[in-house]
Amino acid sequence: MVKLAEWQGKVVFRKYGVPLPRGEVARSASEAEALVRSGKVPLPCVIKAQVLSGGRGKGGAVRFASTPEEARAAAEAILALDFKGEKVRTVLLEEKLPIGRELYVAMTLDRSQRLPLLMASARGGVEVESVADEEIDRQTVHPFPGLTSYEKRRAARALGVTGAQARSLEKVLDSLWKAFQLEDAELVEINPLAVVGDGLVALDAKVVIEDDASFRHPEYAEVRDDRTELEEIAREKEIAFVQLDGNIGVIANGAGLTMATLDVLKEFGGEPGVFLDLGGTDDPKKVTEAFLLMARAKPAAVFLNIFGGITRCDTVAKGLVEAMTQVPAAERFPLVARIRGNNEAEGIEILRSAGVTAIPDLKASAQAAVEAARGRP
Ligand code: GDP
Ligand code: MN
Repeated sequence: MVKLAEWQGKVVFRKYGVPLPRGEVARSASEAEALVRSGKVPLPCVIKAQVLSGGRGKGGAVRFASTPEEARAAAEAILALDFKGEKVRTVLLEEKLPIGRELYVAMTLDRSQRLPLLMASARGGVEVESVADEEIDRQTVHPFPGLTSYEKRRAARALGVTGAQARSLEKVLDSLWKAFQLEDAELVEINPLAVVGDGLVALDAKVVIEDDASFRHPEYAEVRDDRTELEEIAREKEIAFVQLDGNIGVIANGAGLTMATLDVLKEFGGEPGVFLDLGGTDDPKKVTEAFLLMARAKPAAVFLNIFGGITRCDTVAKGLVEAMTQVPAAERFPLVARIRGNNEAEGIEILRSAGVTAIPDLKASAQAAVEAARGRP
């Protein structure tokens, strides 16, 4: 089960258009203060512990500040907390909105009915656990038609919103439904969904990704706050990049092929050290960036396993060759490539003329990569 921290859930929400307060994360009190001083987080602001346990509002892990000094002090106090046994390492700072009512909406899976379930309650906020069953409206949503207008209107009625607020709610629900479907979530929850003037804003976010779908979402494989420096850089560039303990770098495309490639290397006695999933891209610029990042991880050898479907082998190869020239000579490493599919012959030709070992057979190429890494640090 991949349970996202609030700020990570909000990254997902933003992607699907759920309205959110302006906010930024900080990992130290001085970073928090700087965010406020620079105006990136407007005052007054809310400072919230980024932990996976709920009940932060009641547990002193949500504080307010109206000056940079107060923001610093609040961040310092929260970062010193051991919240329900969880060390607080990150805080989220957000603009403090003048809120009216606090509502509750969530989409989850009703396993007994085998359908998504939309829940809505006008009694959102910190006490939602104690809200009586009959005060939570529940509707199953059939995945084929998706969330219908009728269901959205019924939710609006349950929440007691009309006019512009009801229109805002419909958008929020559409976004929530999309997030639930496309991210393979088992829960997307907004509590509170706050009434702010004519609109609604998600003040909190709870997102849990379905474990069985994790192969479709390699981006969640490493959802933790302990990313390495390179992983952090990769994340900013939207490159799927994970550091492991071994010494062979793996570049593949698609989560499935990437995982299979790690297995094959292991099978032949290799230890994968870093893997990088190019996904569906063959954009030479992206390939170059990814490769340079790989170089910074100092692998003993790199095994490239590309299947050209939508991705064209020759453009990937071009990107790689271009990238190789940018790696300083002292940091070069042996590169073994297996590329199959669309424009394969051209791709292999490009790689070979650049001095890359290109072997179409999977086993043979994996063995060559393990061999190339042997004896190197
Ligand atoms: P939880 O207790 O862990 O679920 O934390 P929440 O993120 O739900 O925050 C708890 C409470 O803090 C909310 O129910 C709000 O009452 C309050 N709160 C959070 N953000 C804001 C804000 O931007 N403005 C105001 N006025 N209150 C906020
Ligand atoms: Mn909450």
